[in-house]
Amino acid sequence: MMPGSSAPAEITAAAALLRAGELVAFPTETVYGLGADARNPLAVRRIFAAKGRPADHPLIVHLAPTVDPAQALSAWAIVDERARLLVRACWPGPLTVVLPRAEGVLDEVTGGLATVGLRMPSHPVAQALLTTFGDGVAAPSANRFGRVSPTTAAHVRAELGDELRVLDGGPCQVGVESTIVDLSGALPAILRPGAVTAEQVQALLGPLAPSSTTRAPGTLEGHYAPHTSLRLSTDPQAEAEALRARGLRVAILPAGDPADHARRLYAELRRLDGLQVDVLVAEPAADEGLGRAINDRLRRAARGAEG
Ligand code: AMP
Ligand code: MG
Repeated sequence: MMPGSSAPAEITAAAALLRAGELVAFPTETVYGLGADARNPLAVRRIFAAKGRPADHPLIVHLAPTVDPAQALSAWAIVDERARLLVRACWPGPLTVVLPRAEGVLDEVTGGLATVGLRMPSHPVAQALLTTFGDGVAAPSANRFGRVSPTTAAHVRAELGDELRVLDGGPCQVGVESTIVDLSGALPAILRPGAVTAEQVQALLGPLAPSSTTRAPGTLEGHYAPHTSLRLSTDPQAEAEALRARGLRVAILPAGDPADHARRLYAELRRLDGLQVDVLVAEPAADEGLGRAINDRLRRAARGAEG
């Protein structure tokens, strides 16, 4: 049994809300999403209003599981062999592909771009909702713009209030947002690191565009930010001692096994943010595989918290 409000009747009710143009928050394996019918421009605009997000930031369209994941792409995008290969290997899972958009895909979803981001999540509650709804659901993370992404249903309510329908699928198993691979150019480009690693993508597709030249539109340097000031240190104990010697109250977020580190990262940032300390000191992960995704989020959180 999944915890919380993911019984069949809850899924049916949530799908009906989506059909009526309303928003529904739902769990995925990465983070919780704030979903709207991706074919309904008014519904999609509600996402931007609820998050306080600028309207030119593109959203990811979430797709129901299919026997051949590559088949699901063609209603939304112009598909090539690289895309078929990648999604057959990685879907359902924490990977978003960016492809030239098919005719009829809304500007509200793509932020006016000629491309569209697509993902097929593996979380059973997300899959049940998408299958029952029967079409694509546009969904960014279910947090206020610029803040830490939610990895539990309680986080979503803390961010967006009690009025919103939230399906509860327990804590997210991956814990950081999907890897975004842009396949609209000559070389595949990782726009955002995630649990599907650059090493895995390269093994499937060959050479990648150099990472310094790539960045997802609408991602900001200061993002995923707690309210408390955050510093990164490879020796967090020593850094904390030095700060305490200056009279500051300090909490430490240690590294650990990368999968576990990623899974608890946002929940820990939220918890430590509530502790009434002056500074959070976070230890970065080894900069490889999933560690790259963790460090990307920590760096952005550190920058966002400075303001
Ligand atoms: P979020 O769901 O909050 O993680 O935000 C969606 C992410 O997907 C943002 O970083 C967007 O920049 C990225 N994204 C969605 N669609 C596209 C696209 N067509 N091209 C590039 N990035 C995209
Ligand atoms: Mg987000």
